[in-house]
Amino acid sequence: MKAVIATKDKSVEVVKKELRPLKHGEAKVKMEYCGVCHTDLHVKNADFGDVAGVTLGHEGIGIVTEIGEGVTTLKEGDRVSIAWMFESCGHCEYCLTGRETLCRDVKNAGYTVDGAMAEEAIVTADYAVKVPENLDPAAASSITCAGVTTYKAVKVSEIKPGQWIGVFGVGGLGNLAVQYAKNVFNAKVIAFDINDEKLELAESLGADIVVNSLNEDPVATAKEVTNGLGLDATIITAVAKTPFNQAIDVVKAGARAVAVGLPVDKMDLDIPRLVLDGIQVIGSLVGTREDLKEAFQFAAEGKVVPKVTKRPIQDVHDIFEEMEQGKVTGRMVIDFAE
Ligand SMILES: [Zn+2]
Ligand SMILES: [Zn+2]
Repeated sequence: MKAVIATKDKSVEVVKKELRPLKHGEAKVKMEYCGVCHTDLHVKNADFGDVAGVTLGHEGIGIVTEIGEGVTTLKEGDRVSIAWMFESCGHCEYCLTGRETLCRDVKNAGYTVDGAMAEEAIVTADYAVKVPENLDPAAASSITCAGVTTYKAVKVSEIKPGQWIGVFGVGGLGNLAVQYAKNVFNAKVIAFDINDEKLELAESLGADIVVNSLNEDPVATAKEVTNGLGLDATIITAVAKTPFNQAIDVVKAGARAVAVGLPVDKMDLDIPRLVLDGIQVIGSLVGTREDLKEAFQFAAEGKVVPKVTKRPIQDVHDIFEEMEQGKVTGRMVIDFAE
């Protein structure tokens, strides 16, 4: 079967791979779709260390074709997801307190174990979350990472109905954050980006106000719409330092700024501002299986509609190049039915 692997020279290659036999508790999945994420770009570029040879991909949706011994949660024919959080230990402090994504022994699809950018993959059955029947599988691939990540971030922001939330960066992640914030949490949304096309998409998806931070001052706009107070919370999905700093500058006292994007950089934190205004800066990493189940359900109800573009596997080089050049709007999804 065909698989997309990371190579030594920080590129990707489509190769032929054979799957090993299933072990206890595992299932085999025939892939339908796998989204291409910024995290795949980081893995490919060895930003988190060299993992050449690993099959990329953690936004996989496919059908179970075989179950190993001891599997009770899945059966053949089930549609399931393969997410970044591939498996956790199940018995540590984090796993036992609903924070399994922070497990120190976590395995990550497409990074520490072979992922979903392949015609077939092996999953740990207990960690493969089922996809609701009325959810389109290509859309589900986007919810598996971008969707659950932003849904969780909005949850972590503790935004309340009617409050103002700022979303910095409205690409593949941010446009979903806008929809969850607006349609699930009933918040008012300001979208910040430096790309007009992405801002137009955010506006069409329900953002109340859009700000191109190159032409307009994010802080002035945030103050203007909140009678000088500032926003109630922000989510940063952007992959640059400037929006991380702006996301602190636009919030009011006591607000939360939730960091999701992963620029390999440092942000400036003004200590008096943090202390005197009680600002909370919180990192939020993907979501638990339960978060994913909820994120799927809201998408199945039509509250969140990912913008996906289906591409054949041989386009994978182009997809990464377009991503590196910031040309991607919405999500590129590899279509294994092609
Ligand atoms: Zn991802
Ligand atoms: Zn654990």
